[in-house]
Amino acid sequence: MPGWHGFPIRERMQALWGKPVRLLNDADLGALGEHAFGAARGLQDMVYIKVGTGIGAGFLLGGHVYLGATGAAGEIGHITLDPEGPLCTCGNRGCLEAMAGGAALARRAIQAIRAGTPTVLAHHAPLESLTARDIGEAAHRGDHMSQQLLADAGRLIGISAATLVNLVNPQMLVVGGGVAQVGDLLLSPIRDAVRRRSLRASAEVVQVQAALLGRRSTAMGAVALAQHHAVRMLAGCPT
Ligand SMILES: [Zn+2]
Repeated sequence: MPGWHGFPIRERMQALWGKPVRLLNDADLGALGEHAFGAARGLQDMVYIKVGTGIGAGFLLGGHVYLGATGAAGEIGHITLDPEGPLCTCGNRGCLEAMAGGAALARRAIQAIRAGTPTVLAHHAPLESLTARDIGEAAHRGDHMSQQLLADAGRLIGISAATLVNLVNPQMLVVGGGVAQVGDLLLSPIRDAVRRRSLRASAEVVQVQAALLGRRSTAMGAVALAQHHAVRMLAGCPT
C-alpha cells in the first residue's frame, strides 16, 4: 500500500494496546467474513472478490485462508487485460483495477461526459468529484451511460474471475465491496462472463453470489479472525 511499505503496523499496534494483533488485508477478511457469517457458510473452497476503489480477492481454500508466501495472494486487480491500457497504481498498464475499479469507473464517466455522452451526471459539479457511487445511483435511475459503464466493468471483472475459477475451482465466488452494492447491474455480467469463459468442470459447480454481509464482510471477517485466535489462546494452542 503506497506510503505504508515496510511500516511495522502490527508491532506498533501491539505495543500501543498491549494485546496480540493480527493483520490481514480487506479482501482476505471479506472471504473470512462471508465464510463465517455470510453467503459462503459451510463451504470449503470459495473466493471473495472485493470491488471498491480498487479490486482484490481473498481465497479460502480447503477451509483455510490462503495468503501465499508473503501474504500477497489474490491480487486479481492486477491481472493485465490490456498491455497498452490505462496506467495502474501498481505502475503497470491495463490492469483490471485500472479498467474496472471504482476509481476507473469515475474516470471513464468523466471522460465520456467531456466527450459529450448524454447522461444525467453531466451536471454533476464539480465533475472531478464524481464517484462510483454516483454512477451506481444514476444507473438505478435508468441512466444508460452509467448502466453501460457498470456492464463493461462487470464483463472485465467476470473475465478475470473466470481465470480464477479455472485456477482454483471454487464452490462459490462472492462479490462484495462498495461498487458491488449496485447489485445485478454488476453481478449479472460477472455471472455471464464466468459461465462463458471458465471450463465446464469448474463452471458447472461455481455459484456467483453477492456478499450477504454487504459492506460489512471485511469487518465481520475481522470479528471471525479475532474469535478464532481468542479461542486458540484460551485453549493454550499456538496462534
Ligand atoms: Zn496494477
